[in-house]
Amino acid sequence: MQNANSIQNKEPKANDLVIGGFTPLTTIDYPGQLSAVIFLQGCPWRCGYCQNTELLPRKTGNAIAWKSVIEKLEKRRGLLDAVVFSGGEPTLQPALLPALQEIRDMGFKTGLHSAGMYPARLKKILPLIDWIGFDIKAAKQDYEIITGVKNSGEKAWESARLVIQSGIDYEFRTTVHPHILNSERLTALARELSALGARKYVIQKCNTSHCLDAELKTTSVENSAPPVLEGIDFQFEYLSHRGFEF
Ligand code: SF4
Repeated sequence: MQNANSIQNKEPKANDLVIGGFTPLTTIDYPGQLSAVIFLQGCPWRCGYCQNTELLPRKTGNAIAWKSVIEKLEKRRGLLDAVVFSGGEPTLQPALLPALQEIRDMGFKTGLHSAGMYPARLKKILPLIDWIGFDIKAAKQDYEIITGVKNSGEKAWESARLVIQSGIDYEFRTTVHPHILNSERLTALARELSALGARKYVIQKCNTSHCLDAELKTTSVENSAPPVLEGIDFQFEYLSHRGFEF
């Protein structure tokens, strides 16, 4: 019989992953690469503009078996360049590490979409990742306004620092809903990101049709002007159409 210690020390296996969705082919989730995307279930934050609300609970009755994902990927060897782990928040699940290792052993590049809420876990997996799309939401002090979680900014910005220090390829990206990220807050965010050393930054207008927060959902952002980052020399790209989902 297992005692409490042996259960606590159990090494996570890729089979343990709770997978909420699988996209066999995409061209937009890892820039320049033909990719499959594995959506991992669960996220502890509740951003008002979240578009993937069905992936927020930690468990689902419709989880997809890891084995079936691997079988699909086996058939796509030579056709796909990369496999991206998205969510939810993929770093929530400790089994991400062995899963990344298995995907690399199959010969695929690995991509990750993360909001960086688990810096210690991110640090461990960074050597197994080729590219990260990092969802940076606000300047540190403004995080709670978006995530609804105290001190979420500390965790996210620690992870952002780890990404830049690691030297892996990255893109920082921010979804802008003007009701929660006005121009002052956006400028504060860009200033902090620039000071950290970030060089690839994409800002995207929020697609309100699927927002978690009912008030944000009913607010039109169609006529909102492209952002102007005042008093800061910072290169960024602005997408007024849907380019990625948060
Ligand atoms: S936007 Fe990302 S971090 Fe925020 S609640 Fe949704 S999945 Fe979680």
